[in-house]
Formats: sequence, structure tokens, C-alpha cells
Amino acid sequence: MTPLTKIILSQIERFGLMPVSEYMTLCLLHPEHGYYINRDALGAKGDFTTAPEISQMFGELLGLSLAQAWLDQGQPAPFTLAEVGPGNGTLMVDILRATKGVSGFHQSMKLTLIEASPAMRKRQKTALKNYDVCWLDTLSTLPEQPLFLIANEFFDCMPIKQFRRTVDGWQEQMIGAENGTLHFGLGKALDPDAFEKAKDMAVGDMFETSSASAAHAEAIARHIGEFGGAAIIIDYGDWICVGDSLQAVKDHAHVDVLSNCGQADLTAHVSFRDLSTSAEPFAQVSSMTTQGILLERLGITQRAQSLAASMSGDALENHITAHNRLTHPSQMGTLFKAIAIAPHGTPLPAGFTQ
Ligand code: SAH
Repeated sequence: MTPLTKIILSQIERFGLMPVSEYMTLCLLHPEHGYYINRDALGAKGDFTTAPEISQMFGELLGLSLAQAWLDQGQPAPFTLAEVGPGNGTLMVDILRATKGVSGFHQSMKLTLIEASPAMRKRQKTALKNYDVCWLDTLSTLPEQPLFLIANEFFDCMPIKQFRRTVDGWQEQMIGAENGTLHFGLGKALDPDAFEKAKDMAVGDMFETSSASAAHAEAIARHIGEFGGAAIIIDYGDWICVGDSLQAVKDHAHVDVLSNCGQADLTAHVSFRDLSTSAEPFAQVSSMTTQGILLERLGITQRAQSLAASMSGDALENHITAHNRLTHPSQMGTLFKAIAIAPHGTPLPAGFTQ
């Protein structure tokens, strides 16, 4: 039993069934035993690998797309260049290297990372030691100036609630405890019409919501709508997600969601329809596209060829594999989706369409 499992068991014994959202928050960010507080999460030696950890091309192309949006909006200065949930800082390092040549971009930017974990902040500090970085706990304290923001695999770790359709309507899936082990159970019955968007779901189906994701999408769009800028959001998910998507990953393999508290990454699929719905009242939101198509539109094939020209042997093999992993439909190419947010009346970032 992990130390965090003991804490969660005693909370359930004292207060009763725990919502999945609270369980996720404790597992990921408990101040002492949380996953992002303790574990070496990302990369080949960690538990999971994100796109920027696979190849530098990912961050380079997205960085140039954000820089193009900055040029399209008349090179506002000063502006905030931000990442929410920056992990090891690899994505931001690649964005900064690629945008170094964009005249005025680095001179005008205030580099800002929104990160909840002190341990992750330390890694980011090392990766970005040559830059002047400001860390924030939340988006709500961003300075009132244009915001050019990237979010990759951030929304999938936002806490979700899960609801099961039953003959009586809806019941929230909760976490209970019995004989020292955690198990899933259902809470009390809710109004059958509780979820307009899920009204056609069949008995037994599961519907997930994330108020934290909605609040973040709204905050980003509000800021961009009011002060200018652009955001690119990429994640594992789909337009509408149906079913139980909560998953735990440890050492690059799926493990039981309830048996590894604080020692496995916990994520859920991102509903891009919900992100768009939250952002649309405040700014323009692009159509959703797949990661593969987005990277193709941004010229990954040409970039891959130009990098390959100076490679040979294992390095070349690894580079070809990485290109494939990022774009191929059987790998990350279609599983990962992307949307962009920009103010009404301005061009969307390169690679996105209305
Ligand atoms: N964007 C990175 C890493 C994604 S991993 C990449 O592409 O490689 C998720 C990151 O989000 C971690 O840095 C984690 O500590 C951070 N995080 C998780 N919950 C958060 C929250 N509520 N607020 C801010 N950061 C959070």
C-alpha cells in the first residue's frame, strides 16, 4: 500500500465516498506524496513520454506557429509567452530555440510558466537556465498584456468527474473503501436530465466532465479575447469523449487506477467540444485537427528532411522513428488533437483553420 493510499483510505473512512476529481487531485498533487511532486514523470526514464520528449521538431514547429501569430497581430510588445504544465521544460526550450531568429520576439517576451509542482519547477529552472523565467500558480495572475500560450498534455491531467447512466437517471462514480482497499462505487441518483449534452446516452454508459478544464479554457480565451494573443492546445482526446477514460500509467505501461496512488500518472481523455464551448464566448476557436495533420501543415516533413541531411546510423534511425511516432495515424498522429484560440478578427495561428 502506498503512503498516499493510507491517507485516502482514512479520508474516505472519515468523510465517506470520494469523487474521482478529488482522488485525481490528491494522486497528482498531494503536497507530500503527489505524483508530480515525487516522481521523475517524463521521458524515457520516467513513466510516459510526451511529444516534445520524442523530437525537437514538435516544439520548433509550434513555436514558429505562435511567433507567426505574434507577427500577424503587429508584434505587440511586451507580451507573455507562456506554457501551462511545462513538464521538464523541453517544449519551451525548443520553442525558444526556433523563435530566436524572429526579430524582436525574444526582446519583447516575458517568459512565464504556469506550474503547480515545486519539483517540476526545479527541472524547468535547469532546462531554462539561460532565460529569465516567471512562474505562476494559476492563469488568473497573468499580466494584462497579449498572451501567446501553449498547452501540451496539460488538460489530460485536469481532474474529472464521472457519471454513469442508470435506469434511474445518472449516478456519480465515486471511490469507496472496504477492508483496506479502494474500489469504485456509485453515489446517489441525480436528475435524469442533469446532462443535456449526454441525454442520448444508453443505460450503462459513462459521461465525464471537467470543471477545471472548462475554467482553464475560459480563462485562456477571456485573456486572449481582451488583451490579444493566441493559444495552441494539444492533447489526447476527441471532440466528444464517451466512456470511462480514466487511466493510470507507470513505467510506460497501464496499471490499475486505484492501486498506485501517487506513483502513477493519472489522466483522462480531453473533450475538445467542452474546451471549445468554454472558450467560444470570449474568442475565436479553430476547428479541431489531428496532431499529424497539424504538424504536416506546419512543414514537419521538410524539417525532418533537413535535420536528416546531417545524420547517419542510429541517430538517423531514431529520427525517422520519432517523425513517425509524432505523425503516423497508428501512433500519436490521430490520437492527439489540437485546437487554437485567437481574438476575433485576427488570423488563427499557422496550421489551424476555422
Ligand atoms: N507540457 C509538457 C508536460 C506535460 S505533463 C510536455 O509536453 O512535455 C503535465 C504537467 O502539468 C506537469 O508539469 C505537471 O506538474 C503540470 N500540472 C499538473 N496539474 C497542474 C495544475 N493544476 N496547474 C499547473 N500545472 C499542473
